[in-house]
Amino acid sequence: MLESDTSKLSKKELNIIQNYTEGLFKTVREPLLVLDRHRNVVGLNSNLKKKFKINGEFEERVSVFEFNNGQLDTPEFRDVLNYLQTERNTVTERDIQVVLPQKRKRGFTVNASVLPLPDENSIILLSFKKLKNIGDLSRQEKVYNRLVENILSNAPAAICILRGQEHTFEVANEHYIELIGHRDIIGKTVKEAIPEAESQGFIELLDHVYSTGEPYIGNETPLKLKVGKDDFKNSHLNFVYQPTRNKKGKIDGIFVHVVDVSEQVVARKNVEDSEARLRSVINTVPAIIWITDTDGQSVFLNKNWYSYTGQNNEDAKGMGWLDATHPDDRKKAEFAFLDAHNQKKSYSISFRLRNKQGEYRWVLDKASPKFDDDGNYEGMIGTVIDVHEERLKENLVREKDHRLQGIVKEATVATAIYTGREMNIELANDAMIKLWGKDDSVIGTPLHKALPELDGQPFLGLLRNVLETGEIYWGKEDKVDLMIDGEMQTGYYNFTYKPLRDKNGDIYGILNMAIDVTESVTSKMLLKESEFHFRQMADLMPGMVSKTDAKGDDIYFNKNWLDFTGKGSKYLQEVGWESFIHPDEKETFLKAWEDCLNTGCNLEMQLRLKNKEGKYIWHLTRCEAVKEDDGSVKMWIAANTEIDKIKEEEKRKEEFLKMVSHELKTPVTSIKGYVQLLLTLLKKQKEAAEASKLPLQPSLERINHQVTRLTRLISEILDLSRIRENQLELKSEEFNLNELLAETIQDINYTNTQHKIALESEVQCQIIADRDRIGQVVINFVMNAIKYSPGSQEINVKISREDKDKVRVSVKDFGIGIGQENHKKIFKRFYRVGVKSEETYSGFGIGLYLANEIIERHNGEIQLNSELGKGSEFSFILNATQITS
Ligand code: ADP
Repeated sequence: MLESDTSKLSKKELNIIQNYTEGLFKTVREPLLVLDRHRNVVGLNSNLKKKFKINGEFEERVSVFEFNNGQLDTPEFRDVLNYLQTERNTVTERDIQVVLPQKRKRGFTVNASVLPLPDENSIILLSFKKLKNIGDLSRQEKVYNRLVENILSNAPAAICILRGQEHTFEVANEHYIELIGHRDIIGKTVKEAIPEAESQGFIELLDHVYSTGEPYIGNETPLKLKVGKDDFKNSHLNFVYQPTRNKKGKIDGIFVHVVDVSEQVVARKNVEDSEARLRSVINTVPAIIWITDTDGQSVFLNKNWYSYTGQNNEDAKGMGWLDATHPDDRKKAEFAFLDAHNQKKSYSISFRLRNKQGEYRWVLDKASPKFDDDGNYEGMIGTVIDVHEERLKENLVREKDHRLQGIVKEATVATAIYTGREMNIELANDAMIKLWGKDDSVIGTPLHKALPELDGQPFLGLLRNVLETGEIYWGKEDKVDLMIDGEMQTGYYNFTYKPLRDKNGDIYGILNMAIDVTESVTSKMLLKESEFHFRQMADLMPGMVSKTDAKGDDIYFNKNWLDFTGKGSKYLQEVGWESFIHPDEKETFLKAWEDCLNTGCNLEMQLRLKNKEGKYIWHLTRCEAVKEDDGSVKMWIAANTEIDKIKEEEKRKEEFLKMVSHELKTPVTSIKGYVQLLLTLLKKQKEAAEASKLPLQPSLERINHQVTRLTRLISEILDLSRIRENQLELKSEEFNLNELLAETIQDINYTNTQHKIALESEVQCQIIADRDRIGQVVINFVMNAIKYSPGSQEINVKISREDKDKVRVSVKDFGIGIGQENHKKIFKRFYRVGVKSEETYSGFGIGLYLANEIIERHNGEIQLNSELGKGSEFSFILNATQITS
């Protein structure tokens, strides 16, 4: 380091100093160095040159620290100069190191003093005495020195050596200097360098060691060091005071070795404090807390352990805590602990622990490994909690759960358990997996992931609702679309979503049981459809159709039934349709019906049913059983067809046949009689010639009359069958109607002498028609008028204008007349008024039928005007081609 020019002395000053020093050099033989007050070299003697290995001239007025390549720039030398400046002015016997060429170091002892000069000038005089060379030392000293040097420089500890009774610092390493706060201590006594040590008993200790030769070891001894005017620093020191002896064995100093353990002590104190706090906290925690060491031995158990188990410190020590466990659980507890300890991992185990009262209760022991900041294992720390009540409940729940799981697995009904908000498929038996059309891999996944097709269907929402409300959901024939074999398939299911609750009653999942009812639903749907068709058909059918269940109870009536009876379906079901049966047939029917129900055979019978007007109408009743595949009766269908008209017609037919035979018999018998008579007479005539007197004429006339009747009858029957077969052919010719009427009446008059038939022609007219057929109609009208007016002889036939081109022919009698109710019926086939009249009035009931047919086929019209007991007027109206009055 170069000193500034201002620090240099003036030439004059220098001259004075140099003169002064030269005098010194002449008198002192030891190596000398002279510095001015600015620490610049102003002189040196030849001996110094030699010792410091200076070749040639020295650099004058150079700073002493730069002198001869800075060989004196050492902390010790700087200390020496600094010490001189603190007005002490003298330094004695200070050891310093001087760097010689090739970096060799040599020790010198320095004595120095400041010499005042006139004019406030001063010089620093330094004498250097060469320390004993290492080579000059005894072997033992060499080893000792090396050891000391080594220890001093390398030791992590603070080391110093005190010499003499006053304990003067002879040497101290940097750690020591640092420890005492960088004080200048070398060459000073302890009392001088560290005055505060005295009051703290250290001088006394040193004196004791020095005088007795007994080393002293201080452990975490506190030391208060002054660091400022009033500031002290607290340290804790581990130290050794070891006396040193000279060759003669006399104590000549003390080796001091100090380790500052302040940090550890503070840290330990902190730990101890916090441990104490922790312990008090641990003891107030309502759980049992335990700590083991690295060997797995219990080193701490809080108060709760002792009060719970009644053990004392000694009992519980090491592995003694195991003595409090249930004999059956001891091995398990020990294994669980040791396993976790060996593997340095957490564990949790339940076992029974004996309490103070000797009662074994379930506890939960949970522990974790403990590691220090560097990750070294320190042991385990754990808690023990009494879970006896919960465990008992849990056992029940677990047992239930176990049973539940067993049931689910075994169940033939498709069953699954979902847990959590995500509806995780916790469990699903084979039947459920099959129903879903999935495989085992769905177990453990959330339902919406396992069955993505449920998105958009109501089920996930329903499940969530069950989870939230705890209300069971019953699905009845619910439609579910599922992806089965890569195809969306629709099925119908009866199922339940039942909440599952844990021991606290909280819902943790849902039990889902489902039955596939697709087949029954579809067949029901089909049935409904066919039922609908059946009803539709039944309503359309002209008959009355009803349905009865297998037991015979009525369950359905078609519309015709309701119309016929005028009653509602409910009423009919209540009373049963048999209540409408005529009393005459009822008993027979009920007996037959009972047979049907017993045997399953069908029934067919004719019976009368009462209609809404209270009238009994003939029906053909058929009851037929509808059977299941196994032959059992499923239901009955009863059909009632109205046969009243058929019945009536049949009756008339019967009467007709009776009449035909009666009517044919009479003329034929009569003809036969006359013929026989004539034959007999003719036979006799041969014998007696009186033949001319025989009543041949009237007999033949009678035969003629009967034959005419027979012929008409036969032609009428023929016409009837022609009409039925639609084969009645009409001729078409123009003729005079008046003439036809006159001829017809004349013909009738031949055979009928009792009635007076008057013909009144208001008009003359021509018509185009079948002359014979129109004549037939007129004959029918007139013959009926004759037949049905036994008490009167008068019959009026009249031809009159009906319209501009229409003509009316009417035949009026004053006979028995026809009641209003029969006015239409008499034109029907075989219809005759009055049951008994067949005896009174012969006939077949086909004349008017034919007349009506003929007139209708001529586009004409028949009219009847009649009153019972007063007579009748039958007329027909036809188109005329010409009408003249
Ligand atoms: P029938 O052979 O019975 O006369 P019709 O068809 O000619 O058959 O007549 C049908 C029924 O009409 C008769 O049975 C009778 O009861 C009634 N009838 C027909 N004409 C008269 C009449 N002029 N007066 C009273 N009743 C008549």
